[in-house]
Amino acid sequence: MSESGSAQANIGVVGLAVMGSNLARNLAGREGNTVAVYNRSPERTRLLTTEHPEANFVASENIADFVASLTKPRTAIIMVQAGRGTDAVISQLSELFEPGDIIVDGGNAEFTDTIRREKEQSAKGLNFVGAGISGGEEGALNGPSIMPGGSVEAYKTLGPILESIAAVVDGVPCVTHIGTDGAGHFVKMIHNGIEYADMQLIAEAYDLLRKVGGHSPEVIADVFTDWNSGELNSYLIEITAEILRQVDAKTGEPFIDVVLDEAGSKGTGVWTVQNALDLGVPVGGIAEAVFARAVSSHPEQRGPVRATLTARPEIAIVGHTFQEDVRQALYASKIVAYAQGFDAIIAGAKKYNWNIDKGAIATIWRGGCIIRAQFLNRIVDAYDNDASIPSLLADPYFAEAVASGEAAWRRVVSTAALSGIPVPGFGSSLSYFDSLASVRLPAALVQGQRDFFGAHTYHRVDLPGTFHTLWSGDRSEIATEASTH
Ligand code: NAP
Repeated sequence: MSESGSAQANIGVVGLAVMGSNLARNLAGREGNTVAVYNRSPERTRLLTTEHPEANFVASENIADFVASLTKPRTAIIMVQAGRGTDAVISQLSELFEPGDIIVDGGNAEFTDTIRREKEQSAKGLNFVGAGISGGEEGALNGPSIMPGGSVEAYKTLGPILESIAAVVDGVPCVTHIGTDGAGHFVKMIHNGIEYADMQLIAEAYDLLRKVGGHSPEVIADVFTDWNSGELNSYLIEITAEILRQVDAKTGEPFIDVVLDEAGSKGTGVWTVQNALDLGVPVGGIAEAVFARAVSSHPEQRGPVRATLTARPEIAIVGHTFQEDVRQALYASKIVAYAQGFDAIIAGAKKYNWNIDKGAIATIWRGGCIIRAQFLNRIVDAYDNDASIPSLLADPYFAEAVASGEAAWRRVVSTAALSGIPVPGFGSSLSYFDSLASVRLPAALVQGQRDFFGAHTYHRVDLPGTFHTLWSGDRSEIATEASTH
C-alpha cells in the first residue's frame, strides 16, 4: 500500500463495505491498476488495507486526499448505499473534480436518479456513469457482469478498466456500453426483474416435484443437478441443487424445511414492474414473482385462510413423466420471462432514446451475474438472426422449444390447479403465451364495454376508421374522429 499525496492511482473506489472493498481488491489484482480507496468511516479503509497489504492501494482518510491521489482524467467508482449516500458522495466529488473527470455510480440506483445525476454532472463538464453491477459480493471480487451507461467519451477511459475486472465467457468480457445516461441502471433493473421470475419458476418446479412428485429435497437436488447438464444449465439451477442438498446442523432436517417461507426483496423487482406498467409492457411473469414474494410475507392472511380449509383434493400422482413435464414447463416459462424482460428493455430504450444492442446485453449476462445461463447464447443468436424480431417467442429456436414443451406445460399447470399448488409463474407465463398465440382475444368485448359506458370508440376488423355505437340511442353505429384507444 502507498501513502496518498501524489497522483498515482488510475482508478478509485469510494465506499468500502462488502461490495466496494471486493471491487477494489478485484481492480487492484489486475495488471496496471493502482487503486485509490476511501470510505466515510476510516475504520473500513484501515481494515481493508491491513487485511490486504499485498494490494496496490492508495488509501486516504479524507475525500480531498483521495481526489488528489487520482491521475487525470480522475475516475472514481462510488459503491455506497443507494439514494442519499450516493448523492452525498457525488456532491463531495463534484466539488473537487475537474471537467473531463469521471464519476461512476456502481450501486443499485434507480435509473431515473441516474438520468437526473448525469444531467447535473454533465452541466458541470463532468462525466457521470451509472453502472449496474451484478454478481453480488463474489462477483465484485472475482468478476461481475457490468452494465455501464453514460457517455461514449467516458466509456473510452472507463471501458478498458471495467473490461479488466469483469467476468469473461468464451474470451468475451461481460461488460458493454449499454447506452447513454440511465441505460445501464435500467438494464440492471430488468436483469433483476428477470432474476425474480427465474427464481420463482425454479421454486415452483421444486414445489411440484415435492408435493405432486412426492420426492425428498435430496432427490430433487439430484433432479436439478441432472437438469443443469441440459438446456436449463444456469447458476440459479446449480445453487438450487446445493441448497436442497444442505442439511440443517441443528436439527438434522433438510435446510429448506427449517427456513421460514417468507421471501424478502430489496426493490428492484418492484421497480421493474412499476416501469413496465408505465411503459405498457406485459411482464406478468416478473410481476407474479414479485407478488408471490409479497403473498408469502403476509402470515397474518395465510394462517386464517389456511384454517378455513377442510380436506384438500386428492393429489394425482402423474407417474414417471411428471418430472420431465416439470422440466419442460420450467424451460418454457423461463423463455417467457426473458422474452418479457427484453420487451421491457426495448420499450425503455424507445422511451428514453437509448441505442441498445439486445444481443450485447444477452452476451454480457452470460457470466458474472445471477441470471447467467447457457440459454443466453440462444438469445444472442436470436437477435443476431433478426435484431428487430417482435418477440423472442417468434424466434424459430424459441418457438420450437416452447412448442415441444407445450403439452407438458399445460399438464403441469392443470395438475397444479387440480392439486391446489400455487404456480403463479408457470400459470401466468402460459396465459401470456396463449394470449400472444390466440387468433382472437376477448379484448374485443372489453372494447365493447369501454364504448358502451364511456364512448371510448373501437376499430372494426373489416373497415378502416374509428367507430362508436349509440348504445343509449338506437344502437346504430357511427364513424367518429375521436379515439381514446
Ligand atoms: P451498503 O451496505 O449498501 O452501504 C454501506 C456503505 O455506504 C458504507 O461504505 C457506508 O459508509 C457508505 N455510506 C452510506 N451513507 C453514506 C454517506 N452519506 N456518505 C458516504 N458514505 C456513505 O454497501 P454494499 O452492500 O457494499 O453495497 C454498495 C452498493 O452496491 C449499494 O448501492 C448496493 O445496492 C449495491 N449492490 C450491492 C450488492 C450486494 O450484493 N450487496 C450487489 C449489487 C449492488 P460508512 O462505512 O461510513 O457507513
